Amino acid sequence: MLIGLDIGGTKVEGVIVSPHDAQVVHRLRIDTPKTSYIEFLAAVKEVIDALMAKAEIQSIGVGCCGSINRATGKMQGANILYLNGEDFLDDLRSSYLIPVALTNDANCLAISEFKSGAAKEATDSCLAVIIGTGCGGGVVIHGDIVDGQHGLGGEIGHNPLPGFDPEIDGPAVKCYCGSFNCNESFVSGTGFERTWAIKHAPLSAKEIFAAYVAGDANAVAHVDYYADCLARVLGTIVNIIDPEVIVLGGGVSNQDAIYPLVEQKLAANTFSKSVTTPVRKAQHGDSSGVLGAAYLPMMKGLI
Ligand SMILES: [Zn+2]
Repeated sequence: MLIGLDIGGTKVEGVIVSPHDAQVVHRLRIDTPKTSYIEFLAAVKEVIDALMAKAEIQSIGVGCCGSINRATGKMQGANILYLNGEDFLDDLRSSYLIPVALTNDANCLAISEFKSGAAKEATDSCLAVIIGTGCGGGVVIHGDIVDGQHGLGGEIGHNPLPGFDPEIDGPAVKCYCGSFNCNESFVSGTGFERTWAIKHAPLSAKEIFAAYVAGDANAVAHVDYYADCLARVLGTIVNIIDPEVIVLGGGVSNQDAIYPLVEQKLAANTFSKSVTTPVRKAQHGDSSGVLGAAYLPMMKGLI
């Protein structure tokens, strides 16, 4: 049996997964401690210990906000601020005799969908993109997740939007990361609402999609524009890694209307105009974090 942990700013969720059929057989959830790293580490270990008491465990996989800088081994970019600069993975490894591995939540989406979800028939590669509050991504190549030298593998949310044109895309927009016209400002759920509000009275993404379904001309045009932005973003990635399948997760991925539009526009944004890469909705929903984490040590050849 495998342990998978999904660690975010509000909760730490831990599961036991059967590696053969991807079934979750135990699930535990606690609030993320707000105070200190010491308290956080103790709480995470409590979850692991409680799960290890329930079954024979082969490995522990951790999906966590932020990433590990290979050069320093320390956490960076986590929105649980006290985690940054800590040797979180080493601290866990020194506590357990079985393999422990860690990656970020977008990578866990890619792993879970590649192993047992929307990209499970892919034999070599997939790209997963989260289009939720923010925009992140994960890349599987040759059956392994690409963390990268600086933990930045798959972080496509903060590349500039390809073909940015103020006539089409509105005024330049500064991202919290310091760059201008980041993909996240256009293809996240927040970006979908932001670009709508440039021309229209503000609405939520759900309201805009409801208007789309009702045939509202402005909403139809906006969803088409959004699909165009997403096809531009994905097209540049196809030109680099040409994955077998693209999987979308996060809030906007639940809108079925975007899939045929993005698939249809993708080829126009790649070098070969005959690209037919399938773009699919993630299948594991909220469980992608724990499942992807659980599969991680296996994917890394640690067990
Ligand atoms: Zn940015």
